[in-house]
Formats: sequence, C-alpha cells, structure tokens
Amino acid sequence: MAETWTLRDAFIEELRDAYDAEMQLTKILPKMAKAATSPGLRALFEKHLDETRGQLVRLEQVFESLSERARGKHCDGIAGIIDEGKAVLQGNLDKVTRDACLIAGGKRVEHYEMAVYATLVSWARAMSFNEVADFLQQTLDEERAADLALTALAEHGINQGAADAAYPEPDTEAEIEVPVSRGNKASKRRSAAARVS
Ligand code: FE
Ligand code: ZN
Ligand code: FE
Repeated sequence: MAETWTLRDAFIEELRDAYDAEMQLTKILPKMAKAATSPGLRALFEKHLDETRGQLVRLEQVFESLSERARGKHCDGIAGIIDEGKAVLQGNLDKVTRDACLIAGGKRVEHYEMAVYATLVSWARAMSFNEVADFLQQTLDEERAADLALTALAEHGINQGAADAAYPEPDTEAEIEVPVSRGNKASKRRSAAARVS
C-alpha cells in the first residue's frame, strides 16, 4: 500500500466485503428455504432472498454514485458463518430442530450484517455521503426486520416444538389411550397434563 488509507478507502473496502457477503447469501438462502419445514420460516428465507438481491442492486448504485467499480472482495466472516451452518443442512436433525437451528444460523448472519451496515451508514454520514447513507440505511432496516422476524418465529412455536421433541412428555401420549370410562383417576391425570401444556 503506497499511501496511507483514508476512511474513504476503508469505506470502499467494506462495501466490497458487503457486496461479496450478499453474493454468498444469495447462494445459501435458497438452500435454507428448501431445508425449512415451517412454511413461515421458508417464506421468510424466500422473502429475504428477494431482499438480498435488492441489496446487491443497492450496493451497485452506491458504488456508482461514488464512481467506483462494483466488485466484491471475499468476505471471510460470512463464509465462516455459512460454513458453520452447513452442518445443519447436512446433519440428521428432526424437522423442528432443524428449523430451530436454521433460525440460529440466520440470526448469526443478520447480526453480522447489521454490524456491517450500521458502521457503513455511520461512516457515510460522517463523510456527508447522505444519499449513500440513506440507501445503506434501507438495507440495515431490512436486516433488522429479518432478524426480528426470525426471533418471532423462534419464540412463537419453533423453539418450544424443538424442546418438546427433545423432551417428549410420556404422559401426554399415554393419556390419549386411556378410555374415559375408567373414571376419576384418568381424567384427573388428563387435566393435570392439560394444565402443564
Ligand atoms: Fe443482506
Ligand atoms: Zn466480511
Ligand atoms: Fe440479511
């Protein structure tokens, strides 16, 4: 490196890193969508794939407005997160556990991206690249929304479903087979099970 880097140089470098990261994500998101069992989770990954393609276009516009060529530079961070997630795609997991793990991997991705774009927005504002900052803010908002949507799916059923698969309640299944005519003892146990669930 001949000259000392300025924040502008670092900014362009981070944009290239982000561009490559989004590129990598357009390849893995279809696989995550396909691996998801929950229709809501599948739809979320598909929606975020569309958004990710839009984020690439947005980055191209950012490069253009800075008179820089749009090109990526290999993002090791996202590559590492994707690599860790591959165990989930290839492993022998029950369906709801796979969904819970897909969410865990998805949240790693979104948080990584949120950190990247929050910095890029802040640097763009500091350098008075206001239009660029607004563009990158839109992407940051999408990453945040994706993260929140993943959390909502996890908290509204998927994590509990996975926990129930890990710790099935033996009583619950046995109860179903107990005829009602056997009276008090069975119905008492049934209502106890109902209270728990
Ligand atoms: Fe993204
Ligand atoms: Zn990176
Ligand atoms: Fe994202």
